[in-house]
Amino acid sequence: MVRQLLAQGFYSQPLVVHGVDLRIHLEHLLNTPLGLKHAPPRIKIFRRTRRMGTLGTAWWHHNRINLNEMPGYDGFDSIDTLVHELAHLLVPQRCGHDSTWERVYKTLAFEVYNADIEVHRFHSSKKEKRLHHILRTRNEKGLLTLP
Ligand SMILES: [Zn+2]
Repeated sequence: MVRQLLAQGFYSQPLVVHGVDLRIHLEHLLNTPLGLKHAPPRIKIFRRTRRMGTLGTAWWHHNRINLNEMPGYDGFDSIDTLVHELAHLLVPQRCGHDSTWERVYKTLAFEVYNADIEVHRFHSSKKEKRLHHILRTRNEKGLLTLP
């Protein structure tokens, strides 16, 4: 059962962060086996004029993702942040950035973007293995096909 969230008007307003409308990404992410059982989350976007905090936050009790648009980032960061935060919502809050969350994040990245990412919990992962970097590099090489 594929949910056509855009066609059904669930995300009727554009969700543009750093120039990328995230709605089609959400639809694809929520139509993966891991996402199918999950009610579509609300997305709230904050436009910041300076860099502060993190790019995203997940709110389990409200099934909501807050996204910050801040100077110095691009649409590939937006996509990566969406996948990261959605992975949080798909596992219990207590998981934090543990191996369960990590597996979901990696699976979503692989199924929707065919990206083999690496996640390290205790130190930052190699830049080359991060989703935003993989997508940005593909785009620079003219190899990017986004959903
Ligand atoms: Zn996180």
